[in-house]
Amino acid sequence: MLNIVIFGPPGSGKGTQSENLIKKYKLEHISTGDLLRHEIQTNTQLGVLAKQHMDKGELVPDEVIIGMIDRFIDKNVEKVKGVIFDGFPRTVAQAKALKDLLNDYKTDVSVMLNLEVPDDELLVRLIERGKTSGRSDDNEETIKKRIEVYNSQTRPVIDFYQKDGKLANIKGVGAIDAIFADICAAVDAVK
Ligand code: ADP
Repeated sequence: MLNIVIFGPPGSGKGTQSENLIKKYKLEHISTGDLLRHEIQTNTQLGVLAKQHMDKGELVPDEVIIGMIDRFIDKNVEKVKGVIFDGFPRTVAQAKALKDLLNDYKTDVSVMLNLEVPDDELLVRLIERGKTSGRSDDNEETIKKRIEVYNSQTRPVIDFYQKDGKLANIKGVGAIDAIFADICAAVDAVK
């Protein structure tokens, strides 16, 4: 399988580049943020819980997220060529859980694409996105909190994948096409 983790701070372009990757490599895509927003829209118990965290810019608890990924993997992994994990893992505990869940199917993450974008650029991008996204977490206060949470809780995931020999650093600033070319080079190197 070709399993890709697309990683980076909020506003680093994970969603945009995931769309490019899906088209080119014909992979299944899972975005934990999109799944959570769907739960909120359909007003499920999980959605109500998730919203309390998301509106504050905090992470949703690991066990909730890992449960979602567990169900997704059991349902999809044997049917697809590979998966793009977008917005997950966001903590080291989630990264370890993903490794274990994939190991049950004798597979693993192939590459972790780490999109690097400076904090000041993220803030500008997310405030701009907030004008049209309709997302209740795209306001200045929550954006600052999300970047802070990324730096404290999510950034350590980079080390986990570096030690696992899966890390590919990608400069996430510049033209979308040029960034995608770098991404493809990193993916083709492990294919
Ligand atoms: P962004 O990357 O722009 O912050 P996402 O859609 O990936 O947007 O995530 C939005 C929010 O959903 C996060 O701030 C967090 O509250 C929650 N969330 C998404 N994925 C995870 C995850 N893997 N672990 C914990 N919380 C998550």
